[in-house]
Amino acid sequence: MKTNARAVVIGGGAIGVSVAYHLAKYGWKDDVVLVEKHELTSGSTWMAAGNVSFFHSNYYGTQVNMKSIEIFKELEKETGQPSGWHTTGSIRTADNPGRMDELGYAYSMNRCLGLDVSYVTPEEIGKMHPFMNTEGLLGGLYWPDDGDVDPNSVTQAMAKGARQHGVEINLHTLVKSIEETPSGEWLIKTDKGDITCEYVINAAGLWAPEVSKMVGIEIPSIAIAHTHILYEKINAIADTDTMLPLIRDPDKSIYLRQEMDSLILGMYEANGQQWKKHGVPWDYAQEEINPDIDNISDCIEAGMERFPILGDTGFKHVTAGPITYTPNGDPLVGPAAPLKNFFQACGYSFGITQAGGIGHYLAGWIMNGEPEIDLWAVDSRRYGSHANWAYNTEKIADTYPRLYSTIYPNEFRDAARPNRTSPIYEYQKQANAVFGDYYGWECPNYFPPKGEDSYEEPSWRRSNAFKHVANECKHMMNHVGIIDLTRFAKTKISGSGAKAWLNNMTCQRVPEKDGRIALSPMLDHKGNFKSDMTITRVNEEEFFCVTASVGKKHDQHWMLENLPQDKSVMMEDITYQTGCLVLAGPKSREVLARASYNDVSGDAFKFSTSQEIYVGRTKCRVNRMNYVGELGFEIFHPIQQQTAIYNALMEAGADSDIRMIGMHAMDSMRLEKGYLAWKSEMTLHHTPLETNVSWTVKMDKEFIGKSGIEKQKEVGVPLKMVCLVVDAKDSDAWGYNPIMLDNQRIGMTSSGGYGHRVEKSIALGYVKPEFAKAGTKMDVEILGRLRSAEVVTMPLYDPKNEKMKS
Ligand SMILES: Cc1cc2nc3c(=O)[nH]c(=O)nc-3n(C[C@H](O)[C@H](O)[C@H](O)COP(=O)(O)OP(=O)(O)OC[C@H]3O[C@@H](n4cnc5c(N)ncnc54)[C@H](O)[C@@H]3O)c2cc1C
Repeated sequence: MKTNARAVVIGGGAIGVSVAYHLAKYGWKDDVVLVEKHELTSGSTWMAAGNVSFFHSNYYGTQVNMKSIEIFKELEKETGQPSGWHTTGSIRTADNPGRMDELGYAYSMNRCLGLDVSYVTPEEIGKMHPFMNTEGLLGGLYWPDDGDVDPNSVTQAMAKGARQHGVEINLHTLVKSIEETPSGEWLIKTDKGDITCEYVINAAGLWAPEVSKMVGIEIPSIAIAHTHILYEKINAIADTDTMLPLIRDPDKSIYLRQEMDSLILGMYEANGQQWKKHGVPWDYAQEEINPDIDNISDCIEAGMERFPILGDTGFKHVTAGPITYTPNGDPLVGPAAPLKNFFQACGYSFGITQAGGIGHYLAGWIMNGEPEIDLWAVDSRRYGSHANWAYNTEKIADTYPRLYSTIYPNEFRDAARPNRTSPIYEYQKQANAVFGDYYGWECPNYFPPKGEDSYEEPSWRRSNAFKHVANECKHMMNHVGIIDLTRFAKTKISGSGAKAWLNNMTCQRVPEKDGRIALSPMLDHKGNFKSDMTITRVNEEEFFCVTASVGKKHDQHWMLENLPQDKSVMMEDITYQTGCLVLAGPKSREVLARASYNDVSGDAFKFSTSQEIYVGRTKCRVNRMNYVGELGFEIFHPIQQQTAIYNALMEAGADSDIRMIGMHAMDSMRLEKGYLAWKSEMTLHHTPLETNVSWTVKMDKEFIGKSGIEKQKEVGVPLKMVCLVVDAKDSDAWGYNPIMLDNQRIGMTSSGGYGHRVEKSIALGYVKPEFAKAGTKMDVEILGRLRSAEVVTMPLYDPKNEKMKS
């Protein structure tokens, strides 16, 4: 066994083998080692049903699936070993209108990716799958290029490719511990000897939490027993030459596909069984779990109802095996914060489907420092420290049986909540808040009047929240409101080198005067958006940086990775000790004046400046700016003082009709102002030059991403962000809607919703520059239907910023 390598991949399942194969194929030849404690595929991989499809709820997840299928089809040509790929097509059915809407969203999103997908009627489904009882179905989506793959064959084919590219695969080699060396490398200690390496990839599947613990990290991944049933030979199937399409009937929580001359029925039962709760033993390998037939009997019956032939056919084999699940069912991929050069590739519940694609994308991410596509949806850093083992255990009990339930963009499930709450949480509850959870924080989405249903109906269309959100937006426009943004990520950057370092981290110029604030995006090396940051200069050597709450781990990891070693710059996470209440609306100044001992008049406290002032008895850092486009103040404060500050503001605002405002209203108002949202408009696919914050790019200084920006300046931007007013009916754009002109796709929305102050349905999105002129007419496809739209000048609300600056 080698003692040194550039990269060591831990785990020889489908995922680990693919990562090793791609790392070597893309250039790290002879410098990659894979370590597997047993035989290849001996974790979850060997038991998988092998269904592979394009469908994924997320735009980027769909692209990973697409890449996988491309790779699986090519493998034999490259390696000489068949991958066991069969193209069968697949159908996802719907038996209720909500599911049809979900399919509509998937249809439109898939069309953005150029996928071959079409609606099918129940009659057409019946023709394609003659063994299916289509009663009760409303329709479905059909992907002709989906299929299945033999999990063992595909892993062995990739292993062969890996060896051909020089990967050393060590079987029966157990990684027992991992240490960081003083020089910043990793020392992998196995029962066959040690390996020193630069990069580690944790692809240990069921054991990934144990491997993570070796480097002090707790990841939210646990094992659940999953079952599928292979039926006895079915003569009617043996007699046909065609392959039946894979059927997913999510409303019955089952899938069914042809296996040789029979069928495999798989299921997500109501009561998923967590397996080996406290860690999978190291010596577990290639062993099935005793199936619990009683526990899956409802799904077996549902299968017989949908496919009556199953009722006449006996079981040939029932396979039950453990699969890893994370809180939302998506995997954990990418850099492991706060470590350097340690990557996760685990938490996979559909790891055969994504094996090829994620191997490709993760190898690129490791080798180039950035992923080729924005993989935030699977980034392991999307979970904060709240997502521990106990959280995940509770969450999965809810997620597993609902894996096939309809996905709604406005749904926040109750499981494993509440976690992080603001000190004013009880006040929010008393005000009838309907909460969402964001990175573990309970945040009010809206406040229906007392006595009204405090539950938002999950929907792809305008929900019962619509009228309440409208009231909140109008209230903010005419009076004053408080938004709780305690969840913001806050980082103090200080030291003699702080200013110069920050200037390199952002394309914006760091404020030159104390008390000035600057919107300061951080970019990746290609010039694309990495993070949305606002910098407030406290003094020459101290800066207060605020970034998106859900991006906390991601953003702080990026900062940490770039921090100089010489201690000239200090970084302190002050998120949890600092609260934030936003006071906004035309009456916000009069309220603040009453609550504060300081002069907050327009002359004394100018727009886009920051001051330390008293709010009630508490000294707060108050920034005169906000995300809703009204006169307003962001009041950052010591968290333990929040209740006192809140009470002081409510008392001071009693005569000004002060009330609390939720996240939905904030999002509606930011759309009206054309303010960008992280991971909607600000992704790894767009530079500031493509947006309305190109003014933040200062080319007369050095910063990360400058060369990418220079290049784009030379060749011109490929896309331009636009604001569209859409002739929507009862459903607005959500993002990832195709933007069409004369039946050609010219762009894609990044987010959308209803602007209640301007009373228009709004979509933000990117189109080719020639279509970005105000007045250009086009269509936006929403839930599978074209809606006419027009490019308008941004922002729609208060274009001269008179309200903010008043
Ligand atoms: C019944 C069933 C049906 C399924 N059906 C499908 C399907 O239809 N489609 C689909 O996409 N997915 C399906 N899956 C899920 C799929 O099998 C997994 O998502 C996938 O196999 C995960 O692969 P992996 O490489 O991440 O993990 P694993 O296959 O578990 O591999 C991890 C490997 O790491 C090794 N390892 C762990 N720790 C160490 C260590 N310390 N040192 C050395 N080696 C170590 C293990 O021995 C193991 O071989 C199914 C799973 C089951 C059980």
